[in-house]
Amino acid sequence: MRLIVTEKNNSAKKIAEILSGGDAKADKTYKVPFYTWTDAAGVEQMTIGLKGHVLGPAFPEGYSNWQKTDLHELIDADLVKEPTDKNVVKAIKKVAKGADELVIATDFDREGELIGLEALEEMLEANPGLGSREDADSGTLRIQRARYSALTREEIERAFGDLDQLSYPLANAGAARQDIDLLWGATLTRAVSLATRRFGSNFLSVGRVQSPTLGLIVEREMERRAHVPKPFWELFAKFQHPDGSFEAHHATDKFWEKAEADAALAGTASPGTVKAVTARKNTRRPPTPLNTTAFTTDASSRLGITPASAMRIAEDLYMDGFISYPRTDNTVYPASLPVRELVSSLVRVREFSAAAGLLEGPQLTPTRGKKETTDHPPIYPTQAIHPGALEGPKKRVYELVVRRFLATFSPPMVTESTRADIEAGSEPYFVRGSVVVDPGYAAIYTYARSADEEIPKLEEGQALQLDGEPWLVDKETQPPARISQGKLIEMMEERGLGTKATRAEIIQKLYDRGYVYANPPVPSETGVAMYEAFRKYVPRMATAEMTAQLEDEMDRIANGEMSKGEVVGDSRDLLHRTWSEIEESREDLAKVVWKGMDEDRILGPCKVCEEAGRVKEDGSPNMLRIIRAKKSGKRFVGCTGWSADDPDSCDQTFPLPQRGDVFRLEERCSVCGQTPRLKVVPFRGRPWNLCLNDDCESMQEMKKRRAEREAARAAKKAMEEKPPPDGADGAGTATRKRKRKRAKAATKG
Ligand SMILES: [Zn+2]
Ligand SMILES: [Zn+2]
Repeated sequence: MRLIVTEKNNSAKKIAEILSGGDAKADKTYKVPFYTWTDAAGVEQMTIGLKGHVLGPAFPEGYSNWQKTDLHELIDADLVKEPTDKNVVKAIKKVAKGADELVIATDFDREGELIGLEALEEMLEANPGLGSREDADSGTLRIQRARYSALTREEIERAFGDLDQLSYPLANAGAARQDIDLLWGATLTRAVSLATRRFGSNFLSVGRVQSPTLGLIVEREMERRAHVPKPFWELFAKFQHPDGSFEAHHATDKFWEKAEADAALAGTASPGTVKAVTARKNTRRPPTPLNTTAFTTDASSRLGITPASAMRIAEDLYMDGFISYPRTDNTVYPASLPVRELVSSLVRVREFSAAAGLLEGPQLTPTRGKKETTDHPPIYPTQAIHPGALEGPKKRVYELVVRRFLATFSPPMVTESTRADIEAGSEPYFVRGSVVVDPGYAAIYTYARSADEEIPKLEEGQALQLDGEPWLVDKETQPPARISQGKLIEMMEERGLGTKATRAEIIQKLYDRGYVYANPPVPSETGVAMYEAFRKYVPRMATAEMTAQLEDEMDRIANGEMSKGEVVGDSRDLLHRTWSEIEESREDLAKVVWKGMDEDRILGPCKVCEEAGRVKEDGSPNMLRIIRAKKSGKRFVGCTGWSADDPDSCDQTFPLPQRGDVFRLEERCSVCGQTPRLKVVPFRGRPWNLCLNDDCESMQEMKKRRAEREAARAAKKAMEEKPPPDGADGAGTATRKRKRKRAKAATKG
């Protein structure tokens, strides 16, 4: 029997469907689905899906006590491998016993190579007859590797017709990352939590990539706080014209002195004379093919979808066979991509018909980005479907991928901008308009189309009466904008922070730990303090250099230039030094962090006090704050305006959940505008938002959803007690099947 192991159940099912021509039968062992069929040559075939990593590095027993473990010992501990999903490990071992040939068909990247190797080692243990690593090196092994970039018939058939060998250097590079992240994460989190005396579920998470990423956000926030607004004035005048009056701006962009602005205002007199009219054509080139960074940036800026969600959605679309593998650095289409076929099937979908003209030319010439790799192609749509067959954000993300793909073959966008200079009295004015002459790629990549700003037809020498008085607008300079999540991903890439596979998750972690909140991310005081403490006492943790150097060493493992042992060893040395630095300055470091955490307990101004006109002695508002009751140790929210001696003081309080971390989300809830809103991160399960105002609509909605979820869970439980009607694998898959059918039915035809 030939056993094919994939990274997820979805891909196992899909590959079985493709290779068997739809004949594969589904079954389960240890609750893990597998698919079997017999091929044309009479060989039995089976696919089985893992659940990503089924084993992970862990510390051996004896290191779990935070207070008693010496961190230098922890850093040097021999790591062990532990199953993360026992059922999957049992299932693959069981099916491996009946196999005499093995194909590793996990995702094609470093992570996928490692996942494949982990599974392989377990299976060899169960069935040594499959071969050994030595056999692999000599090429006599019955273990092969399928590398594919899309779950489509062509790509899967190509990959299985051209099987390769597992790459140990690639897998080892992935394994080194796992070990290093575990060592750094565990040591630094313990070190900082010990220094600041935060234990249990209240620990402070620190990571080698996470901390410098937080630094990017905090640095910008510091610039914003240091910004001193500078006033300036802008001068406008309105002129009459047969086509309708229009506004013109003074030729001086900004007046920094009020007196100068006033003089220009006084010097403006009717009529104005058109001194010059100039027109210029601008050509904007179409965008380059999408890699992961460009995709997450686009999803964030064009669709308002966060990088972490965008990646989740893209993975779903990939598993459905609608787009190619979304983790890629490549921005150049490989010559093997059947672009004409793809374009012609896509433009037959009504929504994308604006690009139909592409097929009229003799050939399709795509744009090229700067990065070219040979592992995966850039992200492209693998199948033409009506976006209407997809739901919500999935629909928008699929459309974005299709539109961008078609745009890369499209002509440039041509706009014409016109500027007219007008003299009114002693003062020069100008007006500018811009019109799209040829939308080019923006006809399909609609997000990029600029709005027309038309101005009336003006001729040199034309006299124009002022329409009313000219006027001044006073403004002030703004601080630099906060960094959007999409931009943050780009900045991380530039600095070598994280990889295409991890960047979105790292940003999400900053949210989950309460170091940042809102979108674009704003650092909490704890986040600011953590970074400041590192910058002062452990600068290595604050900057990108150290982590970028480790990334570079991991690349060298993949290229066979360094061994995993050397790289992990180097990183252990660095970690010993880092821990010593933290230990030396632990008290100073703790003080900085504590101060930030204390400031974060202040949630926002108290509305009751505000309405009653009660303020502090210095005139500042009374604040709602998280307080821990001395006797019971329970936490709640109270007002800083309360005083035990004053019966008229504010006795406003709100209860809080006692478990998990709470962070400030908004000073005033954006839904009800009444009270602060918090984020609750439970010890287990998903974070949720808590408005202190019980009557807030957001809380009513949440209660309703919670009730619905509980009802659904009860119904599911009742279902599971009965056997499934068609012997298939449960309700979830049945719904998904139906959805896919719907998507198929909607495919162009
Ligand atoms: Zn109050
Ligand atoms: Zn509210």
